[in-house]
Amino acid sequence: MSDLIRRDPRTEWITRNRLHPLHADVLFSGGGATGAVRGPSGLIRKNPHASGFIGPNGIKRIDRLAALKGESGPVAGQRRGAAKAATEVQLPLVTVENPDFYIVAVLDMVGGRLTSHDKDVLGQGHKLAAGLKANGEGEGVVVAVAFGEVKETSFDTAGADRVIHLQGEQFEGYSPEQRITALQVIDQQLAPRHWLFPDSVAAGQELGCRLAARLGERPATQAWQVDNDSALCRGGSQRIDISRATPRLLLLAEECADPIDETRHEAKLIELDNVPATLSRIQDCGAVDVDPSQIPLGEAEFILSAGNGIHDWNQFHAAAEVLGATEGASRVAVDDGFMPRFRQVGATGTWVTARVYVAVGISGAIQHMQGIGQCDKVVAINTDAGCDMVKRADLSVIGDSGEILAELIRLVESRQQGGAEDAA
Ligand SMILES: Cc1cc2nc3c(=O)[nH]c(=O)nc-3n(C[C@H](O)[C@H](O)[C@H](O)COP(=O)(O)OP(=O)(O)OC[C@H]3O[C@@H](n4cnc5c(N)ncnc54)[C@H](O)[C@@H]3O)c2cc1C
Repeated sequence: MSDLIRRDPRTEWITRNRLHPLHADVLFSGGGATGAVRGPSGLIRKNPHASGFIGPNGIKRIDRLAALKGESGPVAGQRRGAAKAATEVQLPLVTVENPDFYIVAVLDMVGGRLTSHDKDVLGQGHKLAAGLKANGEGEGVVVAVAFGEVKETSFDTAGADRVIHLQGEQFEGYSPEQRITALQVIDQQLAPRHWLFPDSVAAGQELGCRLAARLGERPATQAWQVDNDSALCRGGSQRIDISRATPRLLLLAEECADPIDETRHEAKLIELDNVPATLSRIQDCGAVDVDPSQIPLGEAEFILSAGNGIHDWNQFHAAAEVLGATEGASRVAVDDGFMPRFRQVGATGTWVTARVYVAVGISGAIQHMQGIGQCDKVVAINTDAGCDMVKRADLSVIGDSGEILAELIRLVESRQQGGAEDAA
């Protein structure tokens, strides 16, 4: 075949004429999804208009993450997710048969699951273990201690080489005395090189302080930069840093270390010798119901947040009430007068740390995203499958906020009345 490039004047004319009914067909027939077309001069030209897709609100969107993988479109994210699951990379497994030392991390496990703070603490455990190994002290393991009901299944990828699970009636609810007795048994059985606790109100701070008092040791509190020699701790109402030699007991601040994400660990169960029964002077009378609307946004665990995509405000308030959620809002909802200023989430509002954040009709502007960076699980309800909130979300419901909230209210009410739709 000759190398001569043959020109087709009609095709060239259609290519130049954007209004021609065959313009798109001709343009993309040669280039496909990449948008590469042969221009009138015979040169291959990249058509920048070929990338992206038109969202439900008529605005063109470019899914850059999908583009990196060579595909774009509202379903590209889902396809990527499926492909990722199919080719899930098996992280290298780290095994230590006969450990030379133990580092014990007592975890908060709020709701039976690892919190991000717990994962930071496990990361810190490995950092200390690596330091000790580098000092020639052998191979150590990080032991995760969990009390009560556990729903977590990813101790291995969070960095737990060993797991001690203390369950039973005596460890349920608020039971610091029994827990400290169990920790003392661990201290005798494993003689840990370090005790690590999340310095949190959830449980870690109190347990850490109680254990330190019981063992007669001085812990480092609010430690945020720790190595094997020194620990830097926040002090003076968070205004100053105090440096001290790294003690055995550490109460660690959030983000003290990077969580484990490149290795898998054994998460082998360790059985404890008998934990003696403790005569308890504390009686847990159970949780007290609080009005979610009275909880400050920064402390709320479950937030239902409203944006410009809410068109029925009474319905939104009703949904928050039946779900028992604290209300939040985007700046647009606040500026438009639908929500009070103290409900605003984001860079110029409150930075929230909810375990579940449901964003209803919020597009996901960067200023809003800054405020939800610490949230564990984000759920997006939006008509636009390509919006940034949907990309950030762990779960997305694509549809009209009014319809979805109405269905949600119906389901929750039916569940509360013991209806047949419990399973839903
Ligand atoms: C200096 C500065 C500081 C800022 N600080 C903040 C801040 O702290 N917090 C903050 O939130 N913003 C802040 N903003 C504003 C921010 O840039 C965005 O304008 C704002 O977050 C957008 O709010 P929104 O997502 O509710 O509205 P829009 O951007 O209008 O998004 C509405 C969303 O609702 C969806 N939608 C529409 N109808 C429906 C429906 N029927 N059902 C379901 N979904 C629907 C749309 O698809 C869209 O995704 C700041 C801006 C500046 C310049």
